[in-house]
Amino acid sequence: MEKDKLEFNSLADAILPWYYSHRRVLPWRMDQDPYHIWVSEIMLQQTRVEAVKGYYKRFMEALPTVADLANASEERLTKLWEGLGYYTRVRNLHKAAQVIMQKHQGVFPEKYEHVLALPGVGPYTAGAICSIAFNQKTPAVDGNVLRLWSRLTNDARSVDLPAFRKNATQALEAIYPRDAGDFTQALMELGATVCGPDRMPDCTNCPCASFCKAHRAGTAQELPVRLPKKQRRIEEKTVFVLWAKDLYAMTKRPEKGLLAGMWQFPNTEGFLSPTEAANYLQKQNIQVKNIIKQVERTHIFTHIQWNMRCYYLEVSGILPSFHWRTLEQIRQDEALPTAFRIFLPDKK
Ligand code: SF4
Repeated sequence: MEKDKLEFNSLADAILPWYYSHRRVLPWRMDQDPYHIWVSEIMLQQTRVEAVKGYYKRFMEALPTVADLANASEERLTKLWEGLGYYTRVRNLHKAAQVIMQKHQGVFPEKYEHVLALPGVGPYTAGAICSIAFNQKTPAVDGNVLRLWSRLTNDARSVDLPAFRKNATQALEAIYPRDAGDFTQALMELGATVCGPDRMPDCTNCPCASFCKAHRAGTAQELPVRLPKKQRRIEEKTVFVLWAKDLYAMTKRPEKGLLAGMWQFPNTEGFLSPTEAANYLQKQNIQVKNIIKQVERTHIFTHIQWNMRCYYLEVSGILPSFHWRTLEQIRQDEALPTAFRIFLPDKK
């Protein structure tokens, strides 16, 4: 590590000027408010910057302070989050805001340990908040920074190994400059753009080219090394979009597990043929008036893939076993995850 420290002493000198002239204008980079940084970092987990921009704007307009977030209803929060996926994130934001109100008198904590103790906050997010909002020397090592570090050091160990992350964090800690928040953001920005994942690293335009070991060794394109990904589990489902008199049948998902507590169209396990679907509905006492159409769609979660067949059916009678909503209500009020939203009829 001492060797890395000596070799990478110039890292801040190289990337800070580059960052000041190349950084992207992003809505959450307008100030150092920890609330803004926290919400944006949680939204950015597993989600692209471009996709987050609109959500971030709407969220901040609706809930401009930690207190607003703490007092918001769960329904309102899931609606604001609808389509972003990974809904545990917004539930943890809610819980953490309540912790801030109760334990920290509504003031965002500054100590790294206190930030790390908030629900849904891991070492990366705590590092980002403490360095960007409070200028502390706390590295925020995400996938972009791991990739960048593996190339700068020409380290062919897998970046998925906890030891790799630990070494990178310690090595960065040792070379943090006074402008800690800007350094954190410069590392993230360089890793997300010039030394990016989906294309060849743009070494000719990189401020680190003179001391980057992978560039010198010609191995940049071979890095980072990743552990093989686990195969996604495939699940088959049959979904029913049932309507009667302009009302659509909805149910709530269980309070635990995937998409916990969110709305859904009625569905069952397995890929039911039209005859099997008719038998299934009959057993549920659902009288079908008209079969409109059948479509098939796939929705991919991180570890699971749902292959779905959906039947659109007009039914006679409003069964009390479902919640019945107009299309307008579903669109405006209910948090319907993308896995089911893809079946929402176009009809107004
Ligand atoms: S020189 Fe190339 S490989 Fe090295 S950090 Fe810059 S872009 Fe990445």
